[in-house]
Amino acid sequence: MKKIEVFIEWCLYCVTIKASEEIASTPHHFKVIAMEIITIPCLYDNYSYLVFGAGRVDAAVVDPSEAWPVMRELERQQVPLAAVLCTHHHHDHIGGIDDLLDAYPRLRIIGFKEDGGRIPQLTEFLDDGDSFEVGAISGKMFHTPGHTSASVVFHIGNKLFVGDTLFGAGCGRLFEGTAEQMVASLARIVSCGRGTELYFGHEYTALNLRFAAEVDATNGTVRQRAMMVEEMRVGDTPSAPSSIELELETNPFLRATEPAIIAYLEKHAGLKSHDPVAVFAALRELRNHFE
Ligand SMILES: [Zn+2]
Repeated sequence: MKKIEVFIEWCLYCVTIKASEEIASTPHHFKVIAMEIITIPCLYDNYSYLVFGAGRVDAAVVDPSEAWPVMRELERQQVPLAAVLCTHHHHDHIGGIDDLLDAYPRLRIIGFKEDGGRIPQLTEFLDDGDSFEVGAISGKMFHTPGHTSASVVFHIGNKLFVGDTLFGAGCGRLFEGTAEQMVASLARIVSCGRGTELYFGHEYTALNLRFAAEVDATNGTVRQRAMMVEEMRVGDTPSAPSSIELELETNPFLRATEPAIIAYLEKHAGLKSHDPVAVFAALRELRNHFE
């Protein structure tokens, strides 16, 4: 009987998510039990995210840096863990998988097929654009190379789990990819729509905003966001989630056509070309040395 109830709730949720914006903005017409996300601080400045599907039957965790904070939260919520979603192979994103497998031996480990050799625990190997389902959680995975060659993001409802590809007011370092790849990956993230919520892998937002205030000095929204984030961080409140709308206004790596940013780079980084990839590369290089 319980299963039927859950199924009905999920169907309505599904309808709402897939409906036009007009319908989605009047959710009181539906009995909606929305997806829930709990942000779990891990290690020094990492975030893992617990995702509960409609009906709270199953949970998935994105990028479990370490197991115990995730397990503690699962115990508190009284929901079993069904799957791990891996954005990339770096240890500070997958370090908790083995301990989680000890606790949940049937755990599904979902990631990009090209990371199979670097995330040995993977049990499901998705390709770019593939759909996945974990109980009532359903979404798509997109390949977004740049930070690593096999970085991916997970799109679930209007939420995007972006790992180390995009941060609050910043983006990941280019450890394996090129500037051109990262520009294309960021554009793909932006194409998910302005209202999309962004859940990123590290709390770097305050420092990123100090960098943004330097290179985009006339941007009042950067200053406002910086003040807000400083206040949030005093209370240890995560600056995630952000939104694509907010990032478009405050993230210099998404503002490579802004005359003020280009002028700054011409003056301080010897920028010669206004090509967005050249602007991005100059910004990334400056940010690598900004403290
Ligand atoms: Zn990383």
